[in-house]
Amino acid sequence: MGHAGQFAEIIVDINARGVDRVFHYAVPEMYQDKITVGSRVLVNFGSRQIAGYVVGFGTPAGEVKVREISGILDAEPVFTMELLEIARWMADSYLCSTAEALGRIISPRLGIKNARVVKLLYPALPDWEMEDALKLMARSPKQAAVLRTAMERPGLSRRELSAAAHADPKTVDVLIDKRLLKAAVKTFSSFQDLSLRGGTRSPALRLNRDQEAAFREVSGALKKRRFSAFLLHGVTGSGKTEVYLQAISAALAAGLQAVALVPEISLTPQMIDLFYGRFGEQVAVLHSGLAGRERYNEWLRVKEGRAPVVLGTRSAVFAPLPNPGLFILDEEHEPSYKQDDHLRYHAREVALKRAQLSGAVVVLGSATPSLESWFRSGRGGPYKLLKLPHRIDEKPLPRVKIVDLRQEIKEGNRSIFSRNLVSAICARLQKGEQTLLFLNRRGYATFVVCRECGHVIKCDRCDISLTYHLDGTLRCHYCNYQTKMPEKCPSCGSRSIRYFGVGTQKVEDEAKILFPQARILRMDSDSTSRRGSHERILSTFRQGQADILIGTQMIAKGLDFPMVTLVGVVNADTSLFMPDFRAAERTFQLLTQVAGRAGRADLPGEVLVQTYCPDHYSITAAARHDCEGFYQVEMPVRSALGYPPYSYLARLLFTHEDEAEISKGAALAKEILDKTLAGHDNFIEVLGPAPAPLSRIKGRYRWQLVIKGPRRNELRDIIRESMETLQKCRPAFRPVINVDINPQGMQ
Ligand code: ADP
Ligand code: ZN
Ligand code: ZN
Repeated sequence: MGHAGQFAEIIVDINARGVDRVFHYAVPEMYQDKITVGSRVLVNFGSRQIAGYVVGFGTPAGEVKVREISGILDAEPVFTMELLEIARWMADSYLCSTAEALGRIISPRLGIKNARVVKLLYPALPDWEMEDALKLMARSPKQAAVLRTAMERPGLSRRELSAAAHADPKTVDVLIDKRLLKAAVKTFSSFQDLSLRGGTRSPALRLNRDQEAAFREVSGALKKRRFSAFLLHGVTGSGKTEVYLQAISAALAAGLQAVALVPEISLTPQMIDLFYGRFGEQVAVLHSGLAGRERYNEWLRVKEGRAPVVLGTRSAVFAPLPNPGLFILDEEHEPSYKQDDHLRYHAREVALKRAQLSGAVVVLGSATPSLESWFRSGRGGPYKLLKLPHRIDEKPLPRVKIVDLRQEIKEGNRSIFSRNLVSAICARLQKGEQTLLFLNRRGYATFVVCRECGHVIKCDRCDISLTYHLDGTLRCHYCNYQTKMPEKCPSCGSRSIRYFGVGTQKVEDEAKILFPQARILRMDSDSTSRRGSHERILSTFRQGQADILIGTQMIAKGLDFPMVTLVGVVNADTSLFMPDFRAAERTFQLLTQVAGRAGRADLPGEVLVQTYCPDHYSITAAARHDCEGFYQVEMPVRSALGYPPYSYLARLLFTHEDEAEISKGAALAKEILDKTLAGHDNFIEVLGPAPAPLSRIKGRYRWQLVIKGPRRNELRDIIRESMETLQKCRPAFRPVINVDINPQGMQ
């Protein structure tokens, strides 16, 4: 590619301090026209051979001994120039190495080498000869099973075939050696299984007035080919998806490509069908559940421009589109857009950055936008607000009733179920209608609530709930304030103050006793850890084979159950008092979403929300379906305490096997941060160290520092400088330190 006389500039794929820079390697003659920016190559580094990414060409400054590239790892480049820019931006903003960021960006294609070809296996002889061969195999049932499977399902790969026959892949090799199976090399053609996807056509709908207005704005922006961002705020059932689909059509018409991201839980077969129905084989679906070969196939179709529409979950934000024009994030407030281990990127931030780099349009859609996005779409903000305030057919939003659990206690009902909820469920059972019982995420932390007056003990300084510890103390996970568990409620003096937590299992047990005649299903991360069981439970319920479905937030979104006329929120407080400054926001979002599940079809829906805090604004605003009312109360709270969107937050998480070591180490880190800050006039505040709410995982203790400041870049610079100092002054102290800029949760 005409780089004669120049050296390749390479970032090596190791994750160590001091190597996050470019190294020069000579390009051997035979690779001259194969290696380009984006190639993954093999190089000698120190005494090892490792992978490296070619990021440019040039000559080293000064005299250095330059070695040669020793091999090429892939048939074609694995990233584009624009994605390289993104990797550099990620390294800078999330404090990781460029190699780490590149690894994350190209990960869908890893796991496959020379991936364009795959060997598929077929019987090597005609059927009647195979039958003879099988007769001779009485002694080797495994081999016979593999042969039978190969005859029934010709064209499987080695691994697929051995799995289908419940045999070892080596058995397959034996049969190849015996010349009973033959391998045919196959290059991927595009889209083999469109026929399997149902493929019902879904023509564009006629937009209503609000949809039309929103669509006009987005398509107008697409024409300008300049970066712009929209917040599409539409109530549940207002037809946001149709706006996305038509915006994508507009991008395609302009010769651009589009990415639509949905949260993991919303990537249902119905959603995929909708996209295939509209765009046919122009769609590539990218998500982490795809097997390596399928994933690579889809990735390649995107890269080559054959699939200009990408539908996927978080990591699809890195789709290698040649000319991206539109990035859509549905349910933009969802925490699952944040990667929450290792490299903690946020798909919304990446999408916005990619759009800025390529002059593309971003559409963030939600019924309950995050406070950050809401803030940015305010007057003078960088996002333009588009509204869909009505449901499509003017169907009323369901009636939400708040049930005061304090009253139940007063009248002697100590059950998880209020009398209201019991009679509402009974009524559904009699009519043959369905009930959803919703419980927030299994509590990882227990907070303390007064069952008489609903008072919850909070940290004065941080306004987050204190968490009960087994040693009898209550602690703040941000600033480490500690106090003894009180014997009486500080607000009303009652003795009914205790820690609190209900699991789905307990709800199921009690429901079985209260409603012995009901068919009950439960869905949470325990009952759905096996792949596919999630879909199975939902389809059982959708087909009416159960009366009550109990679940965590997994059941809260994206799903339509026509026979559900009652949604019960067993306890809204479990999320309201999570030790997290976003607890009120999350509760509002969850309740609004859950309420959206009731009465989607022709039957009117009812929602019952049980709580000890019936007057809390998260709950009352959700009950009124009043987003703006919620923001009006929550924004000043955030502002007063200096939380996002009025500031930026970072968390440093330390993990180590030894608790004494880690508390000492975290304290040292705090000292260094304070020293680095001294003399700067930047309003950065360091809270902690404190044990994380999940204070120990897999034998490792977890401590955290929370850092808060008005400017993101300053926050990042201070952390970077402090971590370097920490490394120098105590090289022996080696906890795993994870830096999370803009954390979405702090378990
Ligand atoms: P949202 O994503 O905003 O919750 P959906 O996109 O699920 O809403 O739309 C709700 C329903 O309305 C869907 O069944 C959709 O097919 C239908 N719909 C959307 N737009 C229109 C339209 N312009 N005319 C008729 N039906 C529509
Ligand atoms: Zn505190
Ligand atoms: Zn009280």
